[in-house]
Amino acid sequence: MNKQALSVDECLAAATDTKCLVTGDGIIAEIPRLLEQYFPGRPVFAVADNNTYRAAGRAALEATGAAGIPVAGNFVFQEEEIHAEYRHVETLREEFRKAEESAGGAIVPLAAGSGTLNDLVKKAASEIDRPYLCVPTAASVDGYTAYGAALMEGGFKRSFSCPAPLVVAADSSVLAAAPPYLSSSGFGDLAGKIIAGSDWIIADRAFSLDGTGALAPGSQKIDEKAWAMVQLPLRDNLRGALNAARGDREAVKILFEALGVTGFALQYMRDSRSVSGCEHMWSHVWEMENLCVDGRPVTHGHKVAMGLLAAAAFTECLFREKPSRSPARQSWPEREASVRAAFAALEAVVPSVLETARKKFIERGNAKAGPLEAGLLDTWDDMKEAVSGQIPPYAELRAMLKHAGCPVEPAEIGLSKTRILAAARCSQMIRVRFTVLDLAFETGVFDEVLKRMEESDRYF
Ligand SMILES: [Zn+2]
Repeated sequence: MNKQALSVDECLAAATDTKCLVTGDGIIAEIPRLLEQYFPGRPVFAVADNNTYRAAGRAALEATGAAGIPVAGNFVFQEEEIHAEYRHVETLREEFRKAEESAGGAIVPLAAGSGTLNDLVKKAASEIDRPYLCVPTAASVDGYTAYGAALMEGGFKRSFSCPAPLVVAADSSVLAAAPPYLSSSGFGDLAGKIIAGSDWIIADRAFSLDGTGALAPGSQKIDEKAWAMVQLPLRDNLRGALNAARGDREAVKILFEALGVTGFALQYMRDSRSVSGCEHMWSHVWEMENLCVDGRPVTHGHKVAMGLLAAAAFTECLFREKPSRSPARQSWPEREASVRAAFAALEAVVPSVLETARKKFIERGNAKAGPLEAGLLDTWDDMKEAVSGQIPPYAELRAMLKHAGCPVEPAEIGLSKTRILAAARCSQMIRVRFTVLDLAFETGVFDEVLKRMEESDRYF
């Protein structure tokens, strides 16, 4: 295994879409230079909302105009809070088209805003086939440098494919002035990579059972470069970013760069395995349930923080005892009934969950079942050791998240211990990606692990 953490520039070199990431105090003043270098001869069109226009959009346009770079206009969303809805992309595409018509050529879309606004510009820019410049206003997610955008269309969340920004210019004084809950959300999203790592260790061992991954659906070999990008600097970055939500500029700079680099790993692998494990599945389930507090949706990063704690507790409870051989396996009709029961409150998603659950399900009598279970038990002790080196003890994780301003009690984000345990079942069903949840399922101890979590007062 490559033991050397890579520099930001080395990680950038591995990214396929993004060519430049600069972070630091006063970076907004450098935007004209970046425009000349990466988008020569093109006028700028800025997109922001009222808050982010004040925070960064206006200053970016002023710096651009002062440097003699033409400004093709701007569009400022008037909504108090914009949602990731595809209809906004259509609005932006139309604004871009009009701007190009009057400019007589290609523009540079400039997104001044946080995650949602960035996703809208990312998708709209890709629809007119223009690379864009991202000026983030909060270190709130890793999605700035991810390719693709998750948007609502016709009542459903869809993942749209579109390139990541060509250039990201993050001013740490802007990021530090963002509302604290946005920086703590970014911290939660970054901390989630701890579980992305432990799940990948498990998936790697499951893949190696026959050397092809055929025994364990969704298993995957560890890619050393992606591991070096995301995992090797993770502990140091989390330590350095602890005070981001307190407005510490250095901490928020470390946080933003670290989140940015995880996006580069995603671009490099064209797959989210390196940055997302079952902690994101928990968060996805709560997103489907439209988790809100006082009518406001809980942020992605705060859901991931709670998913991380849930996953860490699950992993601790699983490895407390080695399973014994030969669990009773379900037949597909039994499994289908379990899926329907787990998603009883979310009927609309049942068909797609069933399709996924079917793909990963190894039913009673299947020739793979025995070798898979035996193989996982053979490698159990090795897995346990590697995983415990990856995940700090639950109490330590909880203290870290609390210090960083993340929710650590279910009630803080409108949940309960019961809902966390129920979401564990759903999380295991929604994706063909081998994680600790599948390890428990395939060795027949899933219910037993949930019982251990429930009975212990160490968790939640
Ligand atoms: Zn995330």
